[in-house]
Amino acid sequence: MEAKPSLIGMTLEELKGVARKGGMPGFVGKQLAQWLYDKKVTDFQEMVNISRKNQEWLSNNYIIGRDAPDSRVKSQDGTIKYLFNYGSNKLIESVYIPDKERATLCVSSQAGCKMNCYFCATGKMGFKANLSAAEIINQILSIPPQAGKGEVQLNPLTNVVFMGMGEPLDNFENVRKVIEILTAPWGMGWSPKRITVSTVGKLPELKDLLEQTQVHVALSVHTADIGQRESMMPAQKAFPLQNVMQLLSAYDFAHQRRLSLEYIMWRGVNDDMDHARMLARLIGNIPCRVNLIRFHQVEGVDLQPCSEERMIMFRNFLNQKGITATIRTSRGEDILAACGMLATDKGKRPADQS
Ligand code: SF4
Repeated sequence: MEAKPSLIGMTLEELKGVARKGGMPGFVGKQLAQWLYDKKVTDFQEMVNISRKNQEWLSNNYIIGRDAPDSRVKSQDGTIKYLFNYGSNKLIESVYIPDKERATLCVSSQAGCKMNCYFCATGKMGFKANLSAAEIINQILSIPPQAGKGEVQLNPLTNVVFMGMGEPLDNFENVRKVIEILTAPWGMGWSPKRITVSTVGKLPELKDLLEQTQVHVALSVHTADIGQRESMMPAQKAFPLQNVMQLLSAYDFAHQRRLSLEYIMWRGVNDDMDHARMLARLIGNIPCRVNLIRFHQVEGVDLQPCSEERMIMFRNFLNQKGITATIRTSRGEDILAACGMLATDKGKRPADQS
């Protein structure tokens, strides 16, 4: 028997289509969107302005699609890594990062990744599967879960970053749909300023993202030495950094929308002043900020984090060139939830602490 489709992950037009298929007026589509994305219901019976008969038809033909995380593990710094099990080959992780009033969710868009960046634990897993729009939005709708008895309720999400497992632009259609649901007035009504999509610079989807949405963009640069980037990030061959920067230079990042360049620093690899100069040249006049990221040891990768002193020198050099550069605070390293550490291979599953 074929599995019933999920309602979450559907756009307003698709939900109206569902309503019409069940012989309901089109406006029921809007009511469905409200129940799914605003009220975040998990049961058809909670949809009290939809008749019993129609609730029954919906539950016979669809599922809501909400799936609670399988397990979670909490870092000393408050970061929580959640594991979702979406069935065969689809074990994925999402990371909840609290920071005073803010709470950011680092969302996965694929199980594994095709990009095979040398320094990344997800890349080492290889590609398993794309996540559906339902499986992506489910992470956002389900975290933080309702607190259990005696637990303190975690703050609701203020931001979402597509920086978890996978290259979001390699699953563009589903990521675009989720952004639409997050930002549409009929959906969750978020400002696009609360959303960041991270990419190695996959073309032509990056252009589509820039044209079709207003979300912030984070470009994984890591080195402006082209030969070196090619050896560490195979995507450089297909999507040369020079072409990506040229494309980005045609968009406005000086006002509402933000461009950040991500730069993981490795000892003796990309942490000297020559590399800082190359990065400054690459940036030229493009308004952006540089995030300098501490490297977290990944099994089987013979790279070392660079010293704090080097990071400060690198940052200061960029600042002197008029480029905003900051050293990003590391979160969740002790639970393998920090940047580049997500992997759901056997033996690395987080222990259930719930
Ligand atoms: S760094 Fe990002 S794009 Fe590269 S392999 Fe890891 S998840 Fe994929």
